[in-house]
Amino acid sequence: MARFEDPQFLDHLRLAQQAGATAPSQVIGSFSRTVQSCISSVGFVTALVAVSPLVSVVAIISAIPSLLAQLNSSKQRANHLWRSSPAQRKQIFYRSLLTEEQAVKEVRLFGLGSFLHNRMLKELKDVSAGEATVDSRVFRVQTPLALATAAISGCAMLWAVRMAVQHRLTVGDLTVFIAAMSGFQSAVGGIISGTTDLVTASLGFKHYRIVVDAPPDLQVPEDPKPLNPLLNVIEFRNVWFRYHDRAPWILRGVNLSIHHGEALALVGLNGAGKSTLVKLLCRFYDPVRGSITWDGEDLRALPIEEVRARIGAIFQDHMAYDLTAYENIAIGDLSKQDARDAVMEAARAADVDETIKALPRGYDTLLSRIFFAGTSRGDPEAGVVLSGGQWQRVAFARGLMRKEADLLILDEPTAGLDADAEAEVHARLQEHRVTTTSLLISHRMGAVKKADKIAVLSDGIIVELGTHDELMEQRGEYARLFNVQAADFQKPVTKS
Ligand code: ADP
Ligand code: MG
Repeated sequence: MARFEDPQFLDHLRLAQQAGATAPSQVIGSFSRTVQSCISSVGFVTALVAVSPLVSVVAIISAIPSLLAQLNSSKQRANHLWRSSPAQRKQIFYRSLLTEEQAVKEVRLFGLGSFLHNRMLKELKDVSAGEATVDSRVFRVQTPLALATAAISGCAMLWAVRMAVQHRLTVGDLTVFIAAMSGFQSAVGGIISGTTDLVTASLGFKHYRIVVDAPPDLQVPEDPKPLNPLLNVIEFRNVWFRYHDRAPWILRGVNLSIHHGEALALVGLNGAGKSTLVKLLCRFYDPVRGSITWDGEDLRALPIEEVRARIGAIFQDHMAYDLTAYENIAIGDLSKQDARDAVMEAARAADVDETIKALPRGYDTLLSRIFFAGTSRGDPEAGVVLSGGQWQRVAFARGLMRKEADLLILDEPTAGLDADAEAEVHARLQEHRVTTTSLLISHRMGAVKKADKIAVLSDGIIVELGTHDELMEQRGEYARLFNVQAADFQKPVTKS
C-alpha cells in the first residue's frame, strides 16, 4: 500500500495515465508526419542542388537551429509538466470534491463551494503561471532563430533573383528554385513539429515505464514456500512498525498469538494501531522489525496472494461499489461469482438478505445512482441508495463470502449497526466461528466480552491478554474501558 501514499509515485502515475491516453496515437501520427516530410524534403533538396549546391547547403544548415530549439522547448514543457504535477493533482482533487456525490453533503452544509473553488483556481493559476514562463522562454529563444532562418532563405531568394537578372539563371531555374525553397521550408517545418511531438510523447512515456517497471515494494520470496492451511498459530513476534522513516512508531514490539479456531478480540483507544496491525497481517506492509509468522513460517517467505486468499476481512473503511447488490457481495470471493446460494447465505449471515429482497429488483438492484443498469435509462427504480448501516451489512456479507478462509478479520464491523442488528450479527458470527479463527476489533464491549481471548493494545504494545473474567479481575485498562461503557448504559439520564 505504501506506493499509494508516495506523492512522487502518484505524480508518475498521473503523468503515465495522461501519456497512456495520448502517446500511442501521437507517436504514430508524428512518426508518419516526420517520414513524409523527410521524403518531400529530399525531393526539394534535389531540385535546389540542381540549381545551386552551395545555396542548398546553406538552406539545410539554416534549419538546424530551429530544430534544436524545438527539441529543447519540448523538454522544457515536459519538465514543467513534472514540476506542476503536485499542483495538478491538487486541482483535480478540489474539482472532484466539487463534482462528486460523496462530498456533496458537507460541501453544501458547511458552504465549502467557493472555498474549494478558490483553492482549485489557485492551483490552476500556479500551473498556468509556470506554463506562461515556459512559453515566454521558448518564445525568446525561438523568435530570433525563426527570423534567422527566414533571413537566410530571403537572402537565398534574392541571390537567385539577382542571378536571373544577370541571366546566369533562366526564368525556369528561378521558378524551380523559389518553389523548391518554399517546399523545403514547409517540409522542414513538418520534420521539426513531427520530431518534437515524438520527443514529447516519449518523455511522457518515461513515466509509464517508471510505473510499470517499479519493483515490488514488498520483498517477494525467490522461491516461495507452499502455504498450508493454518493448523496452529499466527504469531506477531516483537513487531515494530511505522509508516515511514520519520513517522512515529505505531507498534513498538507487539507479541501476540492468534491460535487456530480461537476468537481473539483486540481493543484499544482510537489511533492505538489496531487497524495497522490488521494491515500488517494482510501483508499490505511489512514490519520494520520483528516478524509475523503463519504456523512458524515468516509471512515474507510465503506467496503473498495465497496468504491473502486465506484471509477473509471486513475493513473499517470498507468499500461501497457502484455495482448490483449481488455483485457487491459476490466479489468477496470471485471463485463463487455464479454461486447464488453462497451469496444469499452470506447475506443471511450478515442479516441483510431481507433488505436486499425488498429492493426493486432484489439482488439485481444496482446500489448506485450514478449509473443506469442495463437498458433502464430513465427508470427511477434502476438504482437505490443504501443507508450507512445497510452498506455495512453488505460489506459484512462480502467478508463472509470466504467461508473457508483460515482467518476472519473484523475491524469494527458493527460500528454503524443498530443494537438489534448488532446482536443478530454477533449471534451469526458465533455460528461462523466454530470453524474459523477470528480477530475481532470492536469498541462494543458486549461483543468483545464473548471472545475466547482479549488483547489490549496501548502505546504500541499488548499490555493485557486474557479472558473477559481474567481481565476484569486484573482491573487494568480493559476493566476500565468496560466499566466506562457499562456505567454509561446504566447511568440515569439527568437533565440540568
Ligand atoms: P486504530 O485502528 O487503533 O484506531 P490505526 O491503526 O488506524 O488506529 O492508526 C494508528 C496510527 O497510525 C494513527 O496515529 C494514525 O494516524 C497512523 N496511521 C494510520 N494509517 C496511516 C498511514 N497510512 N500513514 C501514516 N500514518 C498512519
Ligand atoms: Mg481502526
